[in-house]
Amino acid sequence: MTIDFKDKVAIVTGAGGGLGREYALELAKRGAKVVVNDLGGTRDGTGHSDAALKVVEEIEAAGGTAMSNGSSVTEYDQMEKMVADAKQKWGGVHILINNAGVLRDKTYAKMSPEDFEFVLKVHLTGSAFATKACWETMREQAYGRILMTASSTGLFGNFGQANYGAAKLGLAGLTKTLQLEGAKYNIRVNTLSPVAGTRMTEDLFPEEAFKLFDPVNVVPAALFLVSEDSPTNAIVGAGAGGYHSAWVMMNDAVWLKEEERTVEGFAANWEEISAQNNLRAPNSGSEQSGAILTAMQKVLGKD
Ligand code: NAD
Repeated sequence: MTIDFKDKVAIVTGAGGGLGREYALELAKRGAKVVVNDLGGTRDGTGHSDAALKVVEEIEAAGGTAMSNGSSVTEYDQMEKMVADAKQKWGGVHILINNAGVLRDKTYAKMSPEDFEFVLKVHLTGSAFATKACWETMREQAYGRILMTASSTGLFGNFGQANYGAAKLGLAGLTKTLQLEGAKYNIRVNTLSPVAGTRMTEDLFPEEAFKLFDPVNVVPAALFLVSEDSPTNAIVGAGAGGYHSAWVMMNDAVWLKEEERTVEGFAANWEEISAQNNLRAPNSGSEQSGAILTAMQKVLGKD
């Protein structure tokens, strides 16, 4: 089975280097026309360069088709223009990989409100803006594949990355609602949690790990998640050569009798309420209330 992207137009944000560049190169190699977006800043989001243009040159030298876009994902009007340019040139937008990102790591005690807000703006608002700019086109086409880039920090936490973690878990939340709203228009939305040796991690990984976590190894997961037969609402981890899934899960609700519904009653039942038994991953928020009602019915049925 060969997975190709012929007749597909793909936008990859932050594709001037690191993971985004690898996605853009492989999409183009497999036939997609690729918008290489990147404002070409430093790791903390300051400055500009022609990083996107260089990747376009690489793609064209290899016989592929691409256009560069140097705008910031944080500017909604620029995202709208990026989509309009792609549509004008190539007639649509089928794939969006939200990959642009910055780091401003500090312990929460030392993190300024500005650094908190800025990191959320690039990752969370930027991905929401790029997605919003494509959304109507994808609905009209009845075809869209969108990938959000989360991280292990967002899913599980990491010391010194409160801003980044909040933004990254926010992206998993954005995925969960958009995949519901997009379903009837054949728009599928997934979340990727990569691990890769890039400039983002160069001072975090020891040299050997940096080499082991070559970003090319994330490409198979990313491209499958934006392919025709992609799943939707998946959270996938990828790095080095290891691939896994992750879920937001819940256990069975514990139904407390009316007289137990006190702080002390809750405390007395905490062990059962927090037990990792019968875990499952609901597909929508309404399944949470459904599970609570199931617990009630079980108890009332027995009483
Ligand atoms: P990277 O720094 O090489 O790539 C990020 C790119 O985003 C840069 O080229 C940068 O110029 C661009 N960018 C930043 N702000 C932008 C903006 N406002 N508009 C457009 N482009 C912008 O780092 P990377 O490791 O390739 O990261 C890619 C994505 O993967 C990021 O979202 C990052 O948070 C995520 N991620 C990476 C790792 C890892 O281990 N490298 C782990 C988890 C998540």
